[in-house]
Formats: sequence, structure tokens, C-alpha cells
Amino acid sequence: MLTTAPRPSPVAPSVDFDMRGVQHGHLRLPYSRDDSAWGSVMIPICVIANGSGPTALLTGANHGDEYEGPAALFELAQTLDPSQVSGRIIVVPALNYPAFRAGTRTSPIDRGNLNRSFPGRPDGTVTEKIADYVTRHLIPLADIVLDFHSGGKTLDFLPYAAAHELPDKTQEARCFEAVAAFSAPYSMKMLEIDAVGMLDTTAEEMGKVFVTTELGGAGTASAHSIDIARTGTLNLLRHTGILAGAPEIRQTRWLDMPSSDCFTFAEDDGLVAFRRDLGDPIAAGDVIARVYPVSRTGVPPIDYRAAMDGVLAARHVPGLIKAGDCLSVIATITE
Ligand SMILES: [Zn+2]
Repeated sequence: MLTTAPRPSPVAPSVDFDMRGVQHGHLRLPYSRDDSAWGSVMIPICVIANGSGPTALLTGANHGDEYEGPAALFELAQTLDPSQVSGRIIVVPALNYPAFRAGTRTSPIDRGNLNRSFPGRPDGTVTEKIADYVTRHLIPLADIVLDFHSGGKTLDFLPYAAAHELPDKTQEARCFEAVAAFSAPYSMKMLEIDAVGMLDTTAEEMGKVFVTTELGGAGTASAHSIDIARTGTLNLLRHTGILAGAPEIRQTRWLDMPSSDCFTFAEDDGLVAFRRDLGDPIAAGDVIARVYPVSRTGVPPIDYRAAMDGVLAARHVPGLIKAGDCLSVIATITE
């Protein structure tokens, strides 16, 4: 039987993952184009290693218009003293770098949605090549993976850290212990609309402790949401023993997304007028929002009602909505 070796990744790192100390470099991904014939995408990466201990992989801007992760991780890479570290921290503050530079969810190069492109392909699009490098070269180095998200330009969330229900209950418990250590104002047992192609699923299938977040959104970040990201990252590093000391535990409310009833999708185009704000309690049958047709006056709005009891955990932004857009997410408070 003829077996062929897997195609190598075209990504060239300028950092040595086995070296001690702090290294600031790039993942250089060749990208030939009109304005740079032999050009590259240069994804910033920082490796901080010292002594012996576990490895944490910390990633931001998997979606390019989500800013808490990049804000916390550029700061961490610039400020962390390697003498405080036992183990290794791999920091990639802006993973889908072309999307991050463009301020868009997906890549301007290939429209690639990085968090729907895993496990990726070494011979695929630019976005698929980034995913493949993460899958085959970064995640295998890690004991714990933290991938930051928030709502981007079209959603806004209650600030939460999250893990998923997993077939391996020991792994699942370790993921939720890490979520508790992160200590965001809310902690979620998260249900994905479609988990195929996500970094989350890839890291979980590789047996890693995986934590994700949704820390806000609307295409920006606040002082409060950046502080949650910064504190949560340090807490997770303390939890794993990479940094000394105990996590700084803050009060959290545990939430659950028990079924697809938690999602409401718009079936109409129009102006969305919410009747509840993030964190507000909501009962099944309550109007979450009204969508007004905007082509003329005198037309009644369409009411979107909650399918379950809970709190409003996410909402559409900005003020206009289209059929098919996610209008809201309701979560139940479990604790
Ligand atoms: Zn995201």
C-alpha cells in the first residue's frame, strides 16, 4: 500500500517553541498577490517559556471584529515577566490577521470564516492554511487552549466564559473547572448552532482543556469587557499552575443553553426594537423585540416572542435586521 506523508504547512514561524525566555515573532504565511509578488501574511506571535510546566495556547481575533481577546493578549505579551512563568504560554492575539486588520469577521482575502474552517488544509485558502497550522502545529503543543470571542459587529453578548458538553465527562469537568477559574461575570454551558469547522471542536477532539468566551460585541470593546478578558486570562494561567498563586475568583452566574429554543432568528427585514436588554429576565411568550417594516408608516410590527424562560444573553446589533439574522439568545440561569 502506498502511503503519502501529509503535506507540510506553508507557515514558517520565526519563533522557536522550545526556547526559554520571551520571543516576539511572526507566523509567516506566503500570500502572493498584486501588490507583493512574493509577499506574506505576517501573524504576530509571542512565546513566553520558563522552567517546566504546562503549555497554554491563547488566541484572539479568530473573528477579526472581536476585540477583548486582542486587547488582553497584546497587553499580556508586552507585560508578562518570564521569570513568573512555569511552563510555556503561546500568545496569538490576532489569529485571523487579515480579518483583524480589515475589522471584519471573515478574511478580506478569501472571505474565510476561520472558526468555520477547522481543521483546515495546508493546500487550501489563506484562511484554511491558518486553521491547518493551528490544528497540526499549535494545538498539539498545548495542555489548555483559550480562544477569545465576542459578538463582533452584528451581535452583543452578556460577558461569559464557556465550555461545551463533551462525550468524555472527565475532560468536560476539567473544561468547566477552567471556566470557573476564568471567573467572568457569567459562565455558560454553551450550545453551538453548528459546531462543524470550529477551533473549539478541533481542540476538544484532541483531548485538550478548552475554554472560549463571548465578552460583549457590537464591533468594539469596553474598559469593563477588556478587564474581564485580562483578569480571566491571568486566572486561567494561575489555574493551570503556569503563573503562581490562586485565581482571583469573582462572582459568576452559571447559564445554560438547554436546547435550540434559546435561539431566535429574524424572518423579516426591518428596524429591530428590543423590549428587553442583555441580562433582563424573560418568560416564554414575552415579546423580545418588535421588527418594524421600514418602507412606509402604518404597517404593524412583527413581534418576536421568547420560546423559553431565562435571561437575554445575546442580541442582534445594529438597529436594522434582515431575515435569517440571529435576533437573540436566551439562556437559563442554573446557579
Ligand atoms: Zn467570534
